[in-house]
This record gives sequence, C-alpha cells and structure tokens, in this order.
Amino acid sequence: MTLTGGCRCGAVRYELALEELPLVYACHCHICQRASGSAFSVQALVPEGGLTVTGPVVVHEITTGDRMSIQRFCEICRARVYNTNTRRPGIAVVRAGTLDRSEELVCRAHIYTDFRQRWVTIPDDVPQWPDAAPVAEFLAALKG
Ligand SMILES: [Zn+2]
Ligand SMILES: [Zn+2]
Repeated sequence: MTLTGGCRCGAVRYELALEELPLVYACHCHICQRASGSAFSVQALVPEGGLTVTGPVVVHEITTGDRMSIQRFCEICRARVYNTNTRRPGIAVVRAGTLDRSEELVCRAHIYTDFRQRWVTIPDDVPQWPDAAPVAEFLAALKG
C-alpha cells in the first residue's frame, strides 16, 4: 500500500510504500520532549528506500559522538517530518503524527520511560524500557 503524510502547512508531502501500517514507538527522553514540546515523540521506523518526499525540505544535522542525526523539516512551517541516522543506514524515522492515517497507528513500545511525564500511563501489555532498549529486543517488540 501507499501511505501519505506531510508537514503542518502541506508544502512538504511524502509517500511511503509499505506492506502494512508502520511500526510505531514512543520515546519519552528529554531530547524528544524538547524537540516536540510534547510529553513524548511518536516515531515510525520505515525503510528509507520506500519514502518519497516532495516540497521544500530543510536539513539540520546533529552530531553526537561518532553518529549524525539528519533531521528534515519543512522550510515553510518548520514542522519536523523525519530523520535518518548514520548509525542506522537505510532506516528513516518518520514523526508518526505527520502520517495522514495517524489515528490508525498502534504504539508498540515505549523507551526512556524514566523521563516520562508522570501523568502518562503506559498500558501494562506494551513493552517499555527505562532508557534505550537493546536493539534486538526492541525490534522484536515492535513486530509484536
Ligand atoms: Zn510545512
Ligand atoms: Zn527520545
């Protein structure tokens, strides 16, 4: 199927070729809280090769140690749409709220829950980790 999404103003749009709705997780870390201004970020892991983006994208590179996060924003409304990371080649991390069908997403995992705003209640049957999740366990949780 082809999923679509875009920024707040609609200037940046994307298409995503996927078999099913993307795997989605919530990150409660302080960086995500500050970047979003919200309690947590909700992200969809997708193959970068399946993502086709049109419109005025601005790139912002953030280097941490030996890795670089390459953030993509709309030049007009500054909404953050997705990023890639040199540590995870081939994977794009789409801000799940930019998907047109975001109301259908299921959040499969929560990470950095030590930093979660205390009013946020995580369902008991959804895997969670107090900080970063071990990659293999995390991917297994996302796949359900
Ligand atoms: Zn925009
Ligand atoms: Zn985070």
